[in-house]
Amino acid sequence: MTAVIRHVTLLGATGSIGLSTLDVVRRHPDRFRVHALAASSRDADMETLCREFLPRYAVMADPDAAVRLRERLGAGSGVEVLAGVDGLCQVASDPAADTVMAAIVGAAGLSPTLAAVRAGKRVLLANKEALVMSGGLFMEAVRHSGAELLPIDSEHNAIFQCLPPAHVRNLRAAGITRILLTASGGPFRNMPADQLATVTPEQACAHPNWAMGRKISVDSASLMNKGLELIEACWLFNTDPGNIEVHVHPESIIHSMVEYADGSVLAQLGSPDMRTPIANGLAWPERIDAGVAPLDLFAIGRFHFERPDMQRFPCLGLAAEAFSQGGTAPAVLNAANEEAVAAFLQGRVRFTDIPVIIEQVLCRTPVAPADSFDTIFARDSEARQRAREQIRQQAV
Ligand code: NDP
Ligand code: MG
Repeated sequence: MTAVIRHVTLLGATGSIGLSTLDVVRRHPDRFRVHALAASSRDADMETLCREFLPRYAVMADPDAAVRLRERLGAGSGVEVLAGVDGLCQVASDPAADTVMAAIVGAAGLSPTLAAVRAGKRVLLANKEALVMSGGLFMEAVRHSGAELLPIDSEHNAIFQCLPPAHVRNLRAAGITRILLTASGGPFRNMPADQLATVTPEQACAHPNWAMGRKISVDSASLMNKGLELIEACWLFNTDPGNIEVHVHPESIIHSMVEYADGSVLAQLGSPDMRTPIANGLAWPERIDAGVAPLDLFAIGRFHFERPDMQRFPCLGLAAEAFSQGGTAPAVLNAANEEAVAAFLQGRVRFTDIPVIIEQVLCRTPVAPADSFDTIFARDSEARQRAREQIRQQAV
């Protein structure tokens, strides 16, 4: 049987998820065509990708980068170069594409991801920040358009694989009592609290198991990534933090688990390689080769589990609290975190300042009902403003 050809728009093409996606696509020329590639400012990387994948469109969010890319490609490349958020939203909603990989990092991904959702695409969601910011409205838009939302974050993809497809958003009907969300614990899992203040961005980005972009690497080190994922799981699977228990599992082989009323616990295992969830989403409900090394459990030998240390890593608790406050609180948490992480990566604040900045911003920004995307974007910019003031005061 020949497979249906999927036409893919890839948002965040030059990043870690973007390149892993293209690696899977490259292995299946009979299944996938790249319709559009999009990134922010790395025009040289984009040129290389355009020459290999020959998309109909290439988008650079940064207009100057779009000009450079147009010059690099020259006339006759067959690739039309677009710019800015309008260009991102255009390719995300283009009727000629049926599948959109949402892999832009941070809040910048929300508008184009939403454009894909509203256009009823199969949306492969890596950009967890979009869902954290606007969960209720985002899921409402999914229901309204009939978009097919498939989780790419490895934990959420694992949970998705362990759920009966008919009950992904009705855990009670499926007889599910608990989600066991696994976490690697990051590079500082065993570091004493008094040493965390002096860790460098390079140390924070040296993740023991996963090779990822710098922002998510810092989030993994602070456990904010698990906090964002807790919120992400609540929206995706229509549940609340009371039904989710974070399990630190340093081997990163079990990508998460689901507990059923009869005591069964189903887990999804695999090498820590994002090509597995990406291939799962691209081909769902079929299975395709992802180029991932087979799991060698004899070489791994043992699995370990521990509770997260909420004292040393306050970000996880801050995220849970923001979710329970509801409204615009998670958008504020996300904005403050993005600003604090960027400042840490630039060497302007210490690693341990990240939760302090977030907490201050959360305290000073009143929670509003998240009743429109405009309200969410307004709170996002307000929170960033406050975070920048806080960063100036905190600066080392
Ligand atoms: P990277 O930093 O490696 O890549 C980010 C991508 O987004 C790049 O293509 C970048 O373009 C693009 N980008 C950044 N800002 C903008 C913007 N304003 N407009 C358009 N494009 C933009 O990140 P990752 O691939 O690691 O992560 C991407 C998303 O996936 C994040 O939300 C992350 O949380 C999530 N995720 C990642 C995992 C991983 O293993 N990496 C695992 C699970 C989730 P340019 O190169 O031009 O700057
Ligand atoms: Mg994850």
